[in-house]
Amino acid sequence: MDKYEILRKYFGYDTFRNAQETLIDNILEGKDALGIMPTGAGKSLCYQIPALLMDGITLVISPLISLMKDQVGSLNQAGIHAAFLNSSLTVNQYYKALGFAKQGRYPIIYVAPERLVTDEFLDFALNSNIVMVAVDEAHCVSQWGQDFRPSYLKIVEFIQRLPKRPIVSAFTATATKEVRDDIIDILELQSPMVITTGFDRNNLYFGVMTVKDRYSAIRNYLEAHNSDSGIIYCLTRKQVEEVCERLLKDGFLATRYHAGLSDEERRRNQDDFIYDRIPIIVSTSAFGMGIDKSNVRFVLHYGMPKNIESYYQEAGRAGRDGEPAECILYYSSRDVITNQLFIDNNQDNIELDAVTRAMVKERDKERLKKMTFYCFTNECLRDYILKYFGEYGSNYCGNCSNCMTQFEQVDVTEIARALISCVESSRQRYGTTVIIDTVHGANTAKIKSYRMNENPYYSVLSKVPTYRIRQVLNYLQLEEYLFVTSDDYAVVKLGVKAKEIDNKQILMKLAKESDRETKEVRTKSKKNKAGILGKEQFTENEESLFERLRGLRTEIAREEKVPPYIVFSDKTLTHMCMVKPTTKQEMLKVSGVGEFKFEKYGDRFLSCIEKFGSNK
Ligand code: ADP
Ligand code: MG
Ligand code: ZN
Repeated sequence: MDKYEILRKYFGYDTFRNAQETLIDNILEGKDALGIMPTGAGKSLCYQIPALLMDGITLVISPLISLMKDQVGSLNQAGIHAAFLNSSLTVNQYYKALGFAKQGRYPIIYVAPERLVTDEFLDFALNSNIVMVAVDEAHCVSQWGQDFRPSYLKIVEFIQRLPKRPIVSAFTATATKEVRDDIIDILELQSPMVITTGFDRNNLYFGVMTVKDRYSAIRNYLEAHNSDSGIIYCLTRKQVEEVCERLLKDGFLATRYHAGLSDEERRRNQDDFIYDRIPIIVSTSAFGMGIDKSNVRFVLHYGMPKNIESYYQEAGRAGRDGEPAECILYYSSRDVITNQLFIDNNQDNIELDAVTRAMVKERDKERLKKMTFYCFTNECLRDYILKYFGEYGSNYCGNCSNCMTQFEQVDVTEIARALISCVESSRQRYGTTVIIDTVHGANTAKIKSYRMNENPYYSVLSKVPTYRIRQVLNYLQLEEYLFVTSDDYAVVKLGVKAKEIDNKQILMKLAKESDRETKEVRTKSKKNKAGILGKEQFTENEESLFERLRGLRTEIAREEKVPPYIVFSDKTLTHMCMVKPTTKQEMLKVSGVGEFKFEKYGDRFLSCIEKFGSNK
């Protein structure tokens, strides 16, 4: 068999995606490889297909038990023998699996990194033909990344002990140069082929909402998307508890996830979500790494994360199947303070010396600032993210809340000058609220106690609404006319461009007033960019066929004890509704239906479609 046949027969796909084929060919030529591709790009195939074509065993190193279980489940469903070796197995199960492995039953074995250099495992590995070690989520070797795992450092030690050095391939979605260099150095990749694909996920819609009542906004969203599955990320455990409780009270099926729950409850809640028993999970950032659930249709952020890296990673859990999905961040200025506290109280770096710790803190605050700017930029959001990762976007994606809002140019020079002058005349001593209240002319005790009511700029903007003043203040930060210190006092100071203000006109792109209200409603329109097959294009008839097929999928998933998306992805079901196959040949043309899966389930799906057609 060649790689194309494997792709078709086991995975049910017709063509490779961009980087996949290059990486696979490279590995098959016996060379090391590093694939840096965004979530959902299809990294797994890059090592799974060579593993099936090479003579010998491929070990896949993966950080999380849930991830291994998922991947092995998918492979077994596709008719490929694979196993995992980690602490979720009982001693008996472990030895049994290892026994089969020794007999050469599995071309692909997933191993937890901490197992590698144990005696039992080495005994197996040293006496077997290990042709490749594939390191998934390879950024875990880097201290620069989000998810450093010391056990990943054992991988090199393990490889060095093997009698013959296998091919080493590594995969990650983390794009930064530090992480990439770390992976190559620490894993000792030998002149690897490095492929970085674009980081854009064009099936994801990005939105930012600044609303007074976040809970109501989220509730409205969920009401409008009631059959979809999604994640709501909160900043704190307390928020998770509150939001989840209110959703349950309001009649939604939701569950919760955070580090304060027992292992048992966490596992149960996670499974309820993954197996589609409960469509909504409310969680802290603890949830999700390695969760492969492909049919997550939305990721809502009830609060702003601490940096763009985290945001893109969390938001990126939406739409792994390539179908349209939405990522919306509900911003409140309080989030900045919460995150600042997290950074100040961060205990992760306790073993670092004082100088390094201060540096890390400074870097974290800088990242938080960039995240905050994301929330109030009026430019294309996708472009903002891509630029952050060093890529060039197109300035207009047509699929984010900014691109879909009607803007107008507004002259805000007067507001800008008043703000800058107020900061200057009060000798750069106050925070944003005091400055805004002063120019707006608020009559509060605080203003009086600071004697800001005697400031020459007091009340000069009394006719301008405070939200507008705040927007301009944010914009002045973005453009470096002003900046806010990142110490505890968060004082507004003059920025590098402050001096230029006297002879400049400040024009700002602002949402048309009528649009401020309708923005949320608009998020539903205009999808299916780039010809993505979308459920949105369904007729009513197809919609109900989809529900039937989904029902059948749930039934099969129960019988097989696997998550529904492992039986068939949403994308496959969607495609099936469009094609409405009546024969085996037609069914095999559906993306994601391979021969092996056809043998198992093909007839049941065919007859479901046929029955539906005749009942119409
Ligand atoms: P990653 O690890 O890069 O986040 P996965 O390997 O989990 O992504 O793949 C994401 C999804 O894309 C899976 O559902 C997978 O089956 C699908 N996929 C991978 N390669 C292809 C392809 N060539 N054609 C169609 N779908 C693919
Ligand atoms: Mg992956
Ligand atoms: Zn855009």
